Amino acid sequence: MAFCISCGQMQADGTKFCRFCGGQQPGDQLIARLSMEAEAIRYQMQQLQAQQIQAQQMHQANYGQQQDQGQRW
Ligand SMILES: [Zn+2]
Repeated sequence: MAFCISCGQMQADGTKFCRFCGGQQPGDQLIARLSMEAEAIRYQMQQLQAQQIQAQQMHQANYGQQQDQGQRW
């Protein structure tokens, strides 16, 4: 079962055009491409999160060093 990407009406599987609004429905190729794009985005998000965690750890390390310097003064 699928739903129209334009109007949200229920469509039979394999429908190319919505019978309610005439909107073109995503075919297997488009769905495959979208899922590949989603996979790439998810990978990028994971990379970004890893970078953010690294940056946080660096920030915490710097903060700890600053505290050490403060105690020396
Ligand atoms: Zn429609």
